[in-house]
Amino acid sequence: MEKFDVIIVGAGLAGLAAAWTLAGEGVEAVVLERGDYPGAKNVSGGRLYLNPVRDLFPGLWDGAPLERAIVREGATLMARNRSFTFHYTGSELRADRPQSYSVLRSKFDRWFAERVEERGGMILAKTLVTDLVRENGRVCGVVAGGDELRADAIIACDGVLSLIPEKAGLRPPGRPHDYAVGIKEVIRLDPAVINDRFGVGDGEGAAHLYAGDITKGLFGGGFLYTNADSVSLGLVVSIEDLAKEEAAGDAPSLFEAFKARPEIAPLVRGGQTVEYGAHVIPEGGYRSLARLVGDGILAAGDSAGFALNLGFTVRGMEYALASGHYAAKAVIEARKAGRYDAAALASYQASLEDSFVLHDFKTFKDAQRVLANPHLFGHYPELIGNLMRDLYAVPAGPKSPVFTTLRKHLPLSELWTILLDAKEVTKI
Ligand SMILES: Cc1cc2nc3c(=O)[nH]c(=O)nc-3n(C[C@H](O)[C@H](O)[C@H](O)COP(=O)(O)OP(=O)(O)OC[C@H]3O[C@@H](n4cnc5c(N)ncnc54)[C@H](O)[C@@H]3O)c2cc1C
Repeated sequence: MEKFDVIIVGAGLAGLAAAWTLAGEGVEAVVLERGDYPGAKNVSGGRLYLNPVRDLFPGLWDGAPLERAIVREGATLMARNRSFTFHYTGSELRADRPQSYSVLRSKFDRWFAERVEERGGMILAKTLVTDLVRENGRVCGVVAGGDELRADAIIACDGVLSLIPEKAGLRPPGRPHDYAVGIKEVIRLDPAVINDRFGVGDGEGAAHLYAGDITKGLFGGGFLYTNADSVSLGLVVSIEDLAKEEAAGDAPSLFEAFKARPEIAPLVRGGQTVEYGAHVIPEGGYRSLARLVGDGILAAGDSAGFALNLGFTVRGMEYALASGHYAAKAVIEARKAGRYDAAALASYQASLEDSFVLHDFKTFKDAQRVLANPHLFGHYPELIGNLMRDLYAVPAGPKSPVFTTLRKHLPLSELWTILLDAKEVTKI
């Protein structure tokens, strides 16, 4: 029977980060990945915020396949027949060390896996883990391809619909409330066309988020990120809302309608779809996180629930990288003590508490509840759209004073609703 120091389930960012850290300290780590290669099954909108994790992986980033540094941010509120957009750019986004980059996971994860192997980590692709092996109540291995593989510690990095933490009793079976579904297309475009269409230079990129009618008022939104020679266009919508509100239609139809909108169609015109994927995203936030350690096992990345949707940012990749890294560090600590029970692995929880990861999850613990307010995705986009329509209208006859137009759309009852909703938003 094969025995390793550490078995990592899943070669996404969490798993590769754990393996990179372990291999760097001479610990024998094997990553088991069900996909044909690392990155084959991984879907992300594709925006990686580097600042929080840059220093955790010294020497890793030089030469990384980062697509474009994001120097232009945009957001659009979409009503049924009109929309309102703002853009933001600034010298801070063009700094020497830009805060975020677009990435393509099929490229990035494959490259990261090669770096892990260079450090001595082992990656076994096409290997599905189906169960855990226990001895005296402690997890001590996995079942893969019918074989038992043993290890001192298992790090579960098997992503959002993870079986492993569930089998280890670290989390209950998933509830629709805690998940969204994302659909994404990568559309190839000439780099010069991207520069012109999105007002960026070579190596520079734009990120744009969309909310409103595109999800038929349900919690969620759209995104568009520019890559080196493609754009990533996608839509995310709450699974629970989608199941409840059948009239909204299914996620692929919402995505097609989004893509056909007059605000979007010209941005992808002439492009060729080279990738189409759908994936689930954990959105339950702090209250839905898994228990992070058990006897002989730790959970990191989406598998622990580490993804956060704040409406204007969707973050999961840097939480996956950081939690994988801290899980590996905890195993290295436990190794020194020669014990791998939950108490010996508890430094993982402590490191996450000290880091941006659990700080962020605590800071934004009310985000999901606050953002689930249907006004944000239905009423306000229509309100702002109608206000813009009337402000910009020049009728055949005389035009109303601006104040009259504002009061027409913002009567006292409306201002009161806005105030109450704004008060809720102060909780995130
Ligand atoms: C549409 C969409 C848009 C998003 N946008 C962003 C964004 O812009 N920025 C951001 O930071 N985050 C974003 N996220 C979230 C982010 O992609 C995830 O949080 C992140 O990929 C999690 O990484 P991970 O390593 O935990 O999981 P994954 O990348 O999902 O990796 C899990 C791996 O485990 C493997 N696996 C699963 N089960 C088994 C098994 N039993 N045996 C062997 N292998 C197994 C899978 O094949 C996979 O390779 C988005 C997600 C989606 C779906």
